[in-house]
Order: sequence, then structure tokens, then C-alpha cells
Amino acid sequence: MFANFLRTDKTTIERKFSQFSTECKCPYCGTKPEKEVKNKFKCTSCKQIAFVKKVNDKRYFLTEEENIEMINVKEFESVKNRYFNTLVNNGYEQNKLEKDFEKHNILNIDALRDFILTSYNNLISVNSKNAQAKSLIYFAMANFCSKERQEINVYGIQKFAFDFQLKSYSERAELLNYNCDVKIYSYSDRKECSEDHGRTVPYLDMVKNPILPHVGTDRNFLCSCTYSLVAISDENGIFAFNEL
Ligand SMILES: [Zn+2]
Ligand SMILES: [Zn+2]
Repeated sequence: MFANFLRTDKTTIERKFSQFSTECKCPYCGTKPEKEVKNKFKCTSCKQIAFVKKVNDKRYFLTEEENIEMINVKEFESVKNRYFNTLVNNGYEQNKLEKDFEKHNILNIDALRDFILTSYNNLISVNSKNAQAKSLIYFAMANFCSKERQEINVYGIQKFAFDFQLKSYSERAELLNYNCDVKIYSYSDRKECSEDHGRTVPYLDMVKNPILPHVGTDRNFLCSCTYSLVAISDENGIFAFNEL
């Protein structure tokens, strides 16, 4: 239903890296190595270890501290791009997202993670009447939390996602006079999920006692199953025929 992708600016990371030196010399004492260096090297003059990193065809010559800083900048940008993309995919307007981001003056990755979580919540409130949209946003949010906010209970978020998915089927189910099942597809090797692969339950029973999400043994377990609504008469082709 949403088909927006984040437009990314490839110069952002280079702008952030402009604080680092691209000149082939020791970042501690400025001594130039005798020959071209492509990897970490020990300065012949001050004996310090210099780090060499290649990004977008540019080589940077870094102190140990700058090297750590560069890793942090890269991680920050990669988390920002990845989850801003899922926010935009789920209907967050990119200009608004970027303006909100600038307004908060976010400089470290923990603040970035907080901002992303808040943005998912904003998106939920905007879509409060749309079960399908809410389901997709909660799935994205659960995925984000399992990777980036490990103190958060992912099961609770997935539970919302699956319950809203069932709710989003209600109109179609009513049209079929509730003569329909919910089928579970599992794409995981994990025992918790694969056991229920292909299982079907009448729609109204599933709504009353939803099976998904499965519970895993570890806190960050993500149930990777999905529901699908199937008309009970599918197998003899009656519904397929009627829809033509
Ligand atoms: Zn040196
Ligand atoms: Zn599962």
C-alpha cells in the first residue's frame, strides 16, 4: 500500500568525514611514509600506529581515536538510513522526518534510537484507524527493537502486529460469511515456528485465541511466521471461480 523509499544523499557521509585527513602522512606527527600505504602502519618517526580506512574511493589516515570515531559515524549513518527507510516505507513523509530529526539535534546513537522509536509511535497514532497500516508498522517496530533496543519486550509489539493483521481481514471475512480459515506460514527453522507451518484455524476461532506470535526461549526472539486468510471452499475452486 505504501511504495515510498528513502531518498539518500551519498554526500552526507563524506561531509561527516571531512574532519578526517586524507593526506598520506602520520596523523600523530605528520611524517610522510616512504612509500604508499594502504593499511594500518607504524610510523617510522614517532612509532605510533596509524589507521588507514578507505571509504568511497577516498583513503583516510587516522589516529586510533579518530578510527573509533569513524566507526561510530558509520554505524550512526547506517542505523539512520536503515530505519528512516522503513519509516518512509510505512508512510512517514521524508521531509517531515528529516525536519523532526534536525529539530532534535541528535548527535549520538542512543538518542537516534530513541528518536526512531518515537517516530514509529507517531506513525501508529497517525494511522490509528487503519488496522493494516498499524500491523505493518508494529512489525517494523518489533524488528527494530529486536536489533536495536534489546531491553524492550519484542513479544508485546509483535502481538499487536499480528492482532491488527487479523483485524485487517475482518471485512473480507465478513464478505465470506466467515466461511474462511486463517492459515499459518512459517519460514523459520526454529522449532517454535516451524511446528505450526500450514496449520489452519477458522477465522473467528483465531481471532478469539490468536496463535501468533510464537514465544521463543530468548527475549529477542522474533516469530517469523505470517497469517493468510483463505476461503474454505478454495480447494474445489468455487471461490476462485466466483471471483472471475
Ligand atoms: Zn608519526
Ligand atoms: Zn512463529
